[in-house]
Amino acid sequence: MDSVLSLHKIKKNYGPVKALDEITFDVPKGAVFGILGPNGSGKTTLLSIVMDIVKATQGDFYWNGEKGSSAAMRRQIGTLLETPNFYHYLNAVKNLKIAAAIKEKDKGQIDEVLQKVNLYQRRFSKFNTYSLGMKQRLAIASTLLGNPDILVFDEPTNGLDPAGIAEIRDLIKALSREGKTIIMASHILDEVEKVCTHVAIIQNGVLKTSGSIGEVLNATTADAISSIEIEIGATDLAALQAVLQNFPEMIKQEMQSKSILIQVPAEVLPATINRFCFDNGIVLNQLQVKQKSLESRFLEITDRKSDR
Ligand code: ADP
Ligand code: MG
Repeated sequence: MDSVLSLHKIKKNYGPVKALDEITFDVPKGAVFGILGPNGSGKTTLLSIVMDIVKATQGDFYWNGEKGSSAAMRRQIGTLLETPNFYHYLNAVKNLKIAAAIKEKDKGQIDEVLQKVNLYQRRFSKFNTYSLGMKQRLAIASTLLGNPDILVFDEPTNGLDPAGIAEIRDLIKALSREGKTIIMASHILDEVEKVCTHVAIIQNGVLKTSGSIGEVLNATTADAISSIEIEIGATDLAALQAVLQNFPEMIKQEMQSKSILIQVPAEVLPATINRFCFDNGIVLNQLQVKQKSLESRFLEITDRKSDR
């Protein structure tokens, strides 16, 4: 696997506070990688460590296989870790000129990055006339100066209204389509599910799980729930229920008003259940696998016995 970022047992203590405990995961090239966890779980600390703002107590990290974060490496990464200071009475172009000068980035790209974040039409409006969503898009424009391949965003939609949130999410997806690798912290499950290709879930500084969204949702590792729920129906529900009682791998079945909800090991194929019922004289008129949402996985994972 081509890893853009590799974390190896990253630990951070703030005095007695264990902010991060042996965090290990890899961010594949081209991913939109969500670091998901409730407030205080260590997301900002983790991003600050890989950007060399905070020093890890223990552990190593690698950017593109290179240990640590050299100044040269950091120049290839666009970061948004805290609200940038823009001048309220200056327009977007002037603000980005100042940002480019401070970051020693090419001023020739200002129009281009403003187009990317969809602020080009408003480029000569003063910053203080912008909505919160526009302000955040300008902040993202600033991270795009120098055309970095890697972007690191800490809670990029925090504090925005629904329209502003939608704009930022669309922008992140568009940047991903350009081939950029994006690493973003978020405490919003729905956001990670909608925007990210991969996720690492952390809670109280402990990594709970990581992988592609698909892997995390359907994880069958010992630590994860390895069953699926299937809703099935037939004209004679009582007969169906009687037949299902004999299905060898049934974990649980629950009668509902117009169907039966069953829980079986994840490796059981819906076709097998269909066949089993048919062979026992029942023709199913409904068979629907309930896709687990990241939210239910997240609750399962974080409800598990605490590691500390
Ligand atoms: P998140 O970004 O997920 O909300 P943080 O990384 O900000 O989490 O914080 C993780 C934990 O570390 C919290 O318990 C927080 O109080 C603590 N923490 C963060 N920064 C400091 C600091 N500079 N000094 C002491 N404790 C800190
Ligand atoms: Mg934070």
